[in-house]
Amino acid sequence: MYRVAICPSCNTVVYSEVEYPTQPFDCPFCGELVDFDVPSMTATLPDDVVEKVRILQDEIGISKHGLSRLHGRKRRLFEILQDLSKHDNPISIEKLRQATSEAELKWDWVRRQEGILENFGIDPRDLGEVDIA
Ligand SMILES: [Zn+2]
Repeated sequence: MYRVAICPSCNTVVYSEVEYPTQPFDCPFCGELVDFDVPSMTATLPDDVVEKVRILQDEIGISKHGLSRLHGRKRRLFEILQDLSKHDNPISIEKLRQATSEAELKWDWVRRQEGILENFGIDPRDLGEVDIA
């Protein structure tokens, strides 16, 4: 079975395969323990997981992009945003540009990651239309 929950630390909907409904697991994004007492839902089939993720995402008001399964570049972007959001609110587009450039993420690609950007309160349109080489 799967356990679907909202990470208490980074507020992301996450899930993991578990053996019992309250089994703790580590958040794949921030590493925080999603402990037994964090409210969660269980699912038996992958399709069911998708549905539960959607329900919880609605609950925390994020858009319906697959934030719970970020890998590679997306995860890197998520971490950058998370880091910036600790110091800045709202996040400075200039700082985001600098950080993503240092991480070798193409700005053109960053602009298309609407789900992640919106999750951090950034309107993708604010990132401009011009690709910065
Ligand atoms: Zn987390």
